Amino acid sequence: MAKHGYVIVGGVAGGMSAAARLRRLDEAADIVIFEAGPEVSFANCGLPYYVGGEITSQDELLVQTPKSLKDSLNLQVHVNHRVTALDAAAHKVHVVGPAGELDVTYDHLILSPGATATRPPIEGLDNPHVHTLRTVTDAVTMRDLVTGKGGKPAKTAVVLGAGFIGLEAAEGLAHAGVEVTLVEVAPHVLPPLEQEMAQLVHEELQRLGVKVVVGTGASAVAEDGGHAVVRLADGQSLPADLVVLSTGVAPATQVFVAAGLKCDERGAIVTDAHGLTNLPDVWAVGDATLSTDAVTGARRPVPLAGPANRAGRLVADQIVAAAGKARRLGITDKIASVRPLPAPLGTAIVRVGRLTAAMTGANRASLAGAGIAFTTLHLHPLAHAGYFPGATQIHLLVHIDPRTGRILGAQAVGEQGVDKRIDVLATAMRANLTAPDLIDLDLCYSPPYGSAKDPVSMIGFLSDNVLTGQLALWQPDELDWARTKAFVLDVRTPEEFASGHLPEAVNIPHTSLRGRLGDVKQQAGGRPIAVTCQSGVRSYIAHRVLAAAGFDSRSLSGGMLTLRAFLGAAADALLVKGS
Ligand code: FAD
Repeated sequence: MAKHGYVIVGGVAGGMSAAARLRRLDEAADIVIFEAGPEVSFANCGLPYYVGGEITSQDELLVQTPKSLKDSLNLQVHVNHRVTALDAAAHKVHVVGPAGELDVTYDHLILSPGATATRPPIEGLDNPHVHTLRTVTDAVTMRDLVTGKGGKPAKTAVVLGAGFIGLEAAEGLAHAGVEVTLVEVAPHVLPPLEQEMAQLVHEELQRLGVKVVVGTGASAVAEDGGHAVVRLADGQSLPADLVVLSTGVAPATQVFVAAGLKCDERGAIVTDAHGLTNLPDVWAVGDATLSTDAVTGARRPVPLAGPANRAGRLVADQIVAAAGKARRLGITDKIASVRPLPAPLGTAIVRVGRLTAAMTGANRASLAGAGIAFTTLHLHPLAHAGYFPGATQIHLLVHIDPRTGRILGAQAVGEQGVDKRIDVLATAMRANLTAPDLIDLDLCYSPPYGSAKDPVSMIGFLSDNVLTGQLALWQPDELDWARTKAFVLDVRTPEEFASGHLPEAVNIPHTSLRGRLGDVKQQAGGRPIAVTCQSGVRSYIAHRVLAAAGFDSRSLSGGMLTLRAFLGAAADALLVKGS
């Protein structure tokens, strides 16, 4: 029986990070990696871009090979070797490879088996036209279908699930000229995004030529003369040369659960703060593990590459420290107090055509689920100075604690500068800055890149206004209140008002408001005033005028831009055109 110091299961993000760090800490360590698939350390995040043809060579996806890892880090990597059993008491795993079966003992075992695509109860998912996008082989198969290698090119595709991978697959397939229908059972695409942000992504998908179906799922996939037909629960039938199954992922832990590894009901591995499982000397990282949400405290897997890579490194540090090896290896004693695995914020980003959508922290649903009170701010600043050519709007949404100003979550959608703002906000959240603290951030600025008052600074100003009571907001989901209980005052120009306004709204441009307060008083008849403008800036000015005159007024968060996006397809039916 082979004996090794460190055995690692899974040779991609978390597993290979742990292996590489172990080597850098301990030149003499005996490190073996078993990877069930044919590749190690491949760029799973790059797969959709190979399908779409932006990454043109399969080799680009192969970041390392067993040989390169042997040469540079002296790692023993065995691809096509699946660990099929664990005997924790004996410190032993059973491995099945091309040359047969073997038992291997370890001093420490690191599990990073990742996740597999979930298979919802849809009849006919074994249809040969149904594919998942998890491996290089999957991507090559899909690219070959799209380009028609060895047959006719796929003309139509149905992508089931509009999460990150589904969106990337849909975008890639559309880019490659395939007619794509994207189906999402949730009420909107990219379910972690709020409705008013997801609508912008929805519209961009339509601009790319993707047909988007939301609020209904697939019930069956059937064969029909050389292609599949996807039947939806609402009765639609969608013909497809290619069906992409991207309805979510589940931890790939069945083998280890059977060995007594403590997992939650989803199969996600429970670890301590340093990645140690309930089994002696068995550690776990990555998509297969349970994390504690940094905002809500909820326990859930966070299947993202950053947390997996960082956990691999930190667990390697901890193992070396826990084994009391640090000093012997000549590493500073500081490693004996290694950092715990950080609670993830779930910071994530996706490109959809011209747009980027990104998010960090909690959304409304998770805050409500955790019973955390929040106020939502919406802003639409320009990504860079308006006088410099090419400026486009960033649509920003931030949830804050209405008492303390703690930043609970943030989302952004736009053409430019989205990644920068969400990364700054994620950093601020990690550093426990409050939303008003953002005012003090000294961010870089020149006209092509930003504004002297950066969108992040604007969040600071707006939150400060709200928290200090200078500004009172009403939210898009309070539309019924505004229409039935309040006097709706639209302070845009007459031309903007005519482009679409609430049926009950009265138009008094903010520039005339000071002279028409008598009108407002008469028409409001004692009701509170729901002020609207285009983006929330002019209604803030109007609110200050009204508040100073003793009115009970509130400004629509994010203005008509946010309300339109919140209403989605219903906006045109509700909003009145003309004066
Ligand atoms: P993985 O990297 O998936 O590695 C697990 C490996 O373990 C697999 O190769 C598997 O074959 C192997 N394995 C499983 N069981 C066994 C066993 N019993 N024996 C031996 N080997 C086993 N994240 C982002 O943050 N940004 C992105 O843009 C992004 N894009 C993505 C796009 C796609 C198409 C996919 C599939 C994922 C994407 N991700 C992205 C997610 C990211 O890739 C994962 O979060 C990350 O790879 C998780 O690392 P891991 O080590 O836990 O699992």
